[in-house]
Amino acid sequence: MRLLLIGAPGAGKGTQAERLAEHFGIAHISSGDLLRQHVKDQTSIGQTIKKYVDAGDLVPDAVVMDMLRKPVVAAVEAGGYVLDGFPRTVDQAKAAFETARALGVEVQAAVHLDVPDEELIRRLLARSRGSDDTEEVIAHRLQVYREKTIPLLDYYAGREWMFTVDGAQSPDKVHEDIVGRLQKLAAFDTSQADAASA
Ligand code: AMP
Repeated sequence: MRLLLIGAPGAGKGTQAERLAEHFGIAHISSGDLLRQHVKDQTSIGQTIKKYVDAGDLVPDAVVMDMLRKPVVAAVEAGGYVLDGFPRTVDQAKAAFETARALGVEVQAAVHLDVPDEELIRRLLARSRGSDDTEEVIAHRLQVYREKTIPLLDYYAGREWMFTVDGAQSPDKVHEDIVGRLQKLAAFDTSQADAASA
């Protein structure tokens, strides 16, 4: 199983990705977690990207793509991945598609976790206690999402492997909805395959 999770900061991508990883026995790969780890470990990547991560700006595409290539390929060999936080822009999606196709690791489904702004802000402010995120950085991260990632959803709209789930529900219900939709998609794939082989 090869999945993408797309949603605003605070939409629950991390929580849902973890649960999907456990459910399907696949690797959870979070671009944000990997980038934060680089910053923490003060690697050369970490030193280059700290200013972007701290400000809530997107890290340059090439850095993210290079960083993800190895873990994604390794995950595919081990049964699959759920990618949380990548792609975040149309450019990343286009570049990733080319690379993934060349490597035979293309995504099979993309899940959009939809959560209203008021709920996102409530969650992010609650989460910010004890972290470095100020209200300003939170507002900026949401602004970056609207400017850069909403166009990605528009770009993916209408593809049969992409669907939206109401992310404002309880984590259990969100998980259930995602798994249900993935099962339908798998059934659709099978019927397509049957039709093709008939
Ligand atoms: P996240 O935990 O997914 O919200 O990501 C935290 C931060 O990591 C973001 O605010 C960006 O600075 C950076 N980041 C994560 N994923 C990406 C990506 N796909 N492209 C660019 N920057 C990213």
